[in-house]
Amino acid sequence: MKYSKPRGTRDFLPGEMAARRYVEQMIRRVFIRFGYKEIATPTFEHLELITAKSGEDIVAHLYHFKDKGGRDLALRPELTAPVMRLYVNELQNSPKPLRLYYFGNCFRYERPQAGRYREFFQAGVELIGSSSPEAQAEVIALVNAVLEELGIREYELHIGNIGILRKILAENGIGEEVQAHIMGVIDKGDEAQLEEELNRLELPEEEKEVILGVLELKGRRGEVVERAEALLAGRESVLKELRSFEEILDALESFGVKNYHLNLGIARGLDYYTGMVFEVYAYKLGAEKQICGGGSYSLAEVFGGKPVATSGFAFGFDRLLLALEKEGVKLPDTERTLFMVIPMGRELVPYAIEVASLVRRSYVCELEVMRRKVKKALAYADAKGIPYVILVGEEIKEGKVLLKDMRAKEQREVNVEELESVLAAIAKGNP
Ligand code: ATP
Ligand code: MG
Repeated sequence: MKYSKPRGTRDFLPGEMAARRYVEQMIRRVFIRFGYKEIATPTFEHLELITAKSGEDIVAHLYHFKDKGGRDLALRPELTAPVMRLYVNELQNSPKPLRLYYFGNCFRYERPQAGRYREFFQAGVELIGSSSPEAQAEVIALVNAVLEELGIREYELHIGNIGILRKILAENGIGEEVQAHIMGVIDKGDEAQLEEELNRLELPEEEKEVILGVLELKGRRGEVVERAEALLAGRESVLKELRSFEEILDALESFGVKNYHLNLGIARGLDYYTGMVFEVYAYKLGAEKQICGGGSYSLAEVFGGKPVATSGFAFGFDRLLLALEKEGVKLPDTERTLFMVIPMGRELVPYAIEVASLVRRSYVCELEVMRRKVKKALAYADAKGIPYVILVGEEIKEGKVLLKDMRAKEQREVNVEELESVLAAIAKGNP
């Protein structure tokens, strides 16, 4: 009986996996260049860690279960909460700031569609210990650096500030929990539900209009700030929030990131964001266009630690690959076999093994292990697109092999002592 894979999961085939690892490596390199260090956390956590502050949207889509000891556990739906748990348990007393990065699988019970899976991968960072404008700007600049390194061209970086809305709500006597709920509703983009929720809060009409007005503020910096100032006139503490937001934007521009959009309608689905928030959209991906989300938040105290200012983001790794594919970016096959060694008879197998071992010191090399006739083995090399074959015949006893260029359909005799330099020249021409 054949088994199919669970809904919303994927198998990754040879070639596909090599491309994924290649992109993963590029992302890691950029994270590392900014001074971030890798950490890893378990695939499952205590359910409470996730329900504490991950937002209603995510919690509704959790994979959770009881283990044999009756403990409530959940597969991680994201990595920020696990990383902050790790920080509180292990790293609170380390010198600040801490720059941590991760790459890992996440699980959400959602309706699968293009770009939305039940198991997917995130690559992200957390910068712990500073609320300075340059710290907050750094994580955005890092996102930009990764996208430039990958060569994704068609994306939009949208930056907002949840602190402005939170402040307006707080000044109307609305507590943090209800604020978080409202943010979740905004994140979902359901305008009718938002109207309803705001009505239920019995806010004065003017306040409701200011809130809905803030959500509409989208565009270039100068124009958005001007409209925001007019809308928020007289609300000193909210305007102060706007000023500190602008300091982050100033720092970001020093990082050389200028081509962003301000979007005060961004709310983010996670409950823990406090101020600056941002999202990156690759519109070619259609509905599941968001390839990155992040911002500044406060979470350590929720997990029993001392409060600490933190900023971070997560890339949707699978969506990055889809975006690259949609843009027609060709990814190299880093696992491509360059050489194949074929013995020209059974008694030559030991010699072929020795030659293959020699080639493998530097290059990807397959050994014929099917005991096929030379013609059949060559047909295999051809079908697999292996560009060079080393035939090991009787001449091996005089220290010679036959090197065959499959594309040029040429072959020549090579001394085994010279093999290394001959192959090096070939490899140089076949990067
Ligand atoms: P979305 O609104 O698309 O559900 P999100 O706001 O829930 O995304 P985050 O929790 O911020 O996403 O996760 C960071 C990134 O992880 C997203 O920007 C997205 O690229 C990716 N992501 C989230 N959920 C999935 C999923 N089910 N399948 C694939 N990628 C996902
Ligand atoms: Mg979501």
